[in-house]
Amino acid sequence: MTKELLVTKQNGFMNDCDTETATKPLLVMKFGGTSVGGPIPIARTTSIIERYTREGNSLVVVASAIKGVTDSLVGIGKCIQDGKRLELELGLEDIFYRHLDVANNLNLSHPLKTSLNTRIEELFFELYQYASELRGLTSEKSDRILSYGERLSIRIVQAKLLSRGLVAETVDATEIIETDDNFGQASPDIEKTARYARDLLLPMVTDGVIPIVTGFIGSTRYRKTTTLGRGGSDYTASILGKVLDADEVWIWTDVDGVYSADPRKEPNAQFIPELSQVRAHQMAMAGARVLYPKTIEPLMGTGIDLWVKNTFNPDAAGTRVYYKTDSK
Ligand code: ADP
Ligand code: ASP
Ligand code: MG
Repeated sequence: MTKELLVTKQNGFMNDCDTETATKPLLVMKFGGTSVGGPIPIARTTSIIERYTREGNSLVVVASAIKGVTDSLVGIGKCIQDGKRLELELGLEDIFYRHLDVANNLNLSHPLKTSLNTRIEELFFELYQYASELRGLTSEKSDRILSYGERLSIRIVQAKLLSRGLVAETVDATEIIETDDNFGQASPDIEKTARYARDLLLPMVTDGVIPIVTGFIGSTRYRKTTTLGRGGSDYTASILGKVLDADEVWIWTDVDGVYSADPRKEPNAQFIPELSQVRAHQMAMAGARVLYPKTIEPLMGTGIDLWVKNTFNPDAAGTRVYYKTDSK
């Protein structure tokens, strides 16, 4: 038997028969738009995934669309609404080349690059056909259009992980997050989501595969695509953290953690190393963009810690959001 035939999937890597079976900590890690915003951020993101996988954790990864892509897709919707065909074509072309440009600069081997390019072309063609046939826009149609940002980005992240020797599979959250039909601001049905997410993701994790899940989107019981609200990939991560009973949820972004105010606007903003779920929820609801307003809700009262960490400064401690009981 050749060595290739002997390799088993363990720990997210293609290893020689590693017999380790002990239960590993389960971490849901979400990477935001800047963390997947180009070849260099994607290299950082995937090195973080590799590091924590090698350190013996099981990971479920949630990825946002490439920075700016969801805004561009909103623009596509406006073109449909206003009947601006030429602008629509140009906007779609720009989105397509933005993804191809990132994909072509990831230093992938020939077969990986070819299959990634093919996947991007297929998804893009689907989007192109859907968008160019529409006359007028509803919130339902808009959600379907917006979903392509995450559908495209997870393929790119997966390809880079495969090139690092990790075993990763893409998962469209429409398969696992069931929501109501409040398009644009959909709410999850936690019970059904728990069933679907556990059934699909846990066997992958047990098998040593890293699922790369689309942030931001879900689907109704009739399989119509929904979105959870702008910035909602954080919410996807906390929903999955809750239903999978993860050990922790880590939100990877472009600042060192939660500050007393937006550190990009307020130079005197104070870094907050730890805060309670209640306080974090209040800050998010009050508009601290680093956390989508509803992010903490699924984790409220659970012992699941949420960390906010910086993809571009991964050794910084980050902010811990924890459940504070009277005894703590
Ligand atoms: P991502 O794309 O990773 O989800 P976001 O842009 O949604 O990132 O959130 C990160 C941004 O949130 C930071 O770049 C920062 O400017 C902004 N921000 C606003 N309020 C705060 C705060 N209180 N603490 C930290 N960052 C904040
Ligand atoms: N891509 C979505 C947005 O830009 C969701 C997210 O980034 O969290 O709103
Ligand atoms: Mg965000």
